[in-house]
Amino acid sequence: MSFGKCSICNSAILYKEDYFEAKCEFCGKKEETYIICSNNHYLCIVCAAKEVMDKLYELLPDIDLKNPLDIAERLISKCGISGHTPHPITAAAFLTAVKNVTGYITDEDVMEGVSRAYEIPGGWCGYYGACGAAVALGTSFSVLLNATPSSDKERSIANRVTSACLVEVAALGGPYCCVASIRAVLEKGIELSELHLGIKFPERKTSYKKCWTATFQQNCKTEKCRFYNMDVQE
Ligand SMILES: [Zn+2]
Ligand SMILES: [Zn+2]
Repeated sequence: MSFGKCSICNSAILYKEDYFEAKCEFCGKKEETYIICSNNHYLCIVCAAKEVMDKLYELLPDIDLKNPLDIAERLISKCGISGHTPHPITAAAFLTAVKNVTGYITDEDVMEGVSRAYEIPGGWCGYYGACGAAVALGTSFSVLLNATPSSDKERSIANRVTSACLVEVAALGGPYCCVASIRAVLEKGIELSELHLGIKFPERKTSYKKCWTATFQQNCKTEKCRFYNMDVQE
């Protein structure tokens, strides 16, 4: 399972300041990128995400948890993270919780959000100033509210949700940690879903002391991250 590292050699992923051309090690596609491993392996967006997404599609329909944070931890631990998959994982966790709590939305609605969030590229937080997990939560609200560019309130709420989540991600500081971003975004999402949608999620069930992903993360900020010593109890 890859965990934010190179799927070929398990070395660190490097985020460069300038575009360059690279060839995907799996499918041979050549394209411009900023992202490569320290041994010069490049994977295109589809190949980098495939293993994680295949597991996510398999797992998602059977998840009966009702708190978005619990679902996210389950997905991250079972599927790993690779490339831009933290973005569809965020939408999957939030929308599956909404489905399980309300029964108002279907698996197709969940997949609509996951597919849209899949389109948000990796590295968006640093290169475009908009963390993809935060955009994925705005995306989830768009799906729930059937927002379109022509909508009034629905479009405003989706944009408010993304902006509130971006504030949370900015407050985490850098370098990036996709797990911390997913957690911060979903915490905010739980608060905003009560405000904007009237949906209240049950308390989370997973309990642990300390962040279990710290040892996998190449950039772990340890004591500087508010999730590092997190004490979550039932
Ligand atoms: Zn590599
Ligand atoms: Zn490829």
